Amino acid sequence: MSLLDVQNLKVYFPVSRGPLRRAREHLKAVDEVSLSIEPGETLGLVGESGCGKTTLGRAILRLVQPTAGRILFEGEDLSRINGAALRARRRKLQIIFQDPYSSLNPRMRVGHIIGEALDIHRLAPDRAARQKRIRELLAAVGLEAAHADRYPHEFSGGQRQRIGIARALAVEPKLIVCDEPVSALDVSVQAQVVNLLRDLRQQRGIAYLFIAHDLAVVEHISHRVAVMYLGRIVELAGAKTLVREPMHPYTQALISAVPVIDPDAKRRRIVLPGDVPSPVHPPPGCPFHPRCPLAEDRCRTEAPAWRQVRPGHWAACHLAEIANRKS
Ligand code: SF4
Repeated sequence: MSLLDVQNLKVYFPVSRGPLRRAREHLKAVDEVSLSIEPGETLGLVGESGCGKTTLGRAILRLVQPTAGRILFEGEDLSRINGAALRARRRKLQIIFQDPYSSLNPRMRVGHIIGEALDIHRLAPDRAARQKRIRELLAAVGLEAAHADRYPHEFSGGQRQRIGIARALAVEPKLIVCDEPVSALDVSVQAQVVNLLRDLRQQRGIAYLFIAHDLAVVEHISHRVAVMYLGRIVELAGAKTLVREPMHPYTQALISAVPVIDPDAKRRRIVLPGDVPSPVHPPPGCPFHPRCPLAEDRCRTEAPAWRQVRPGHWAACHLAEIANRKS
């Protein structure tokens, strides 16, 4: 049994239009998404801004209400529980936000921020145990015990993200949704935080859903990577396989935009025409067809099936095999 098994998840938001704002349409932020995460696994989730990856992460935590589908966590459907039952399960599912400053209460000392998580779930029987646990958590993320008495504004961006990680670790989660955890940090600090997350996973067996738009960062930390476009997963494979042998034309375009450090390595940049279409009116057939360099007639009318093209390598493209040969 997978730790997390998301099945046919939809998250639609109603939007009103017209002079009386009566006509109701739906913004399809997440549309028929299925994925799984094993214990201790890191699944990367990439895609451009607005593709639905943050909404998907929040729906898994039930911070956003799903419209349809199932979210099985350790076999239990989180989409069907509420109140105390949901709060109890949330202990095992935590989130790390993109902006570590706005996600930390500026009026609370760091010890209080971390201790609050322990208090909510009654994980420290007395004050001494609480203090000891806070010190352990600070040490686990590379901070000092004395930092517990300081306020968030006294820290750098990287240190604040470490505080956010310590707060998430406090409740001993099994899965952490990392929502663009390094995007707001300097490049020099990004690697330190990514390596910290990787070390914590190895030490504690935590699984991550690692959301980012930077494919190079995602490849570095992930076992498998899913690519999202217009609310749908369009490709999913092992991290190295996905980067070396992409099968979906959209993934190929994303990879072509990643800078190559080796000056001898040649990579042809694929520039996609047009903008991402509106998720209120996604194109018929394959949603990527208006921008796809390989699109043919059937792509405009026939939605491609989500299929396993090779063992462990899934793609939603009629021409995945041909696209792979051209990559
Ligand atoms: Fe391109 Fe057609 Fe594949 Fe869609 S199904 S990605 S339009 S080739």
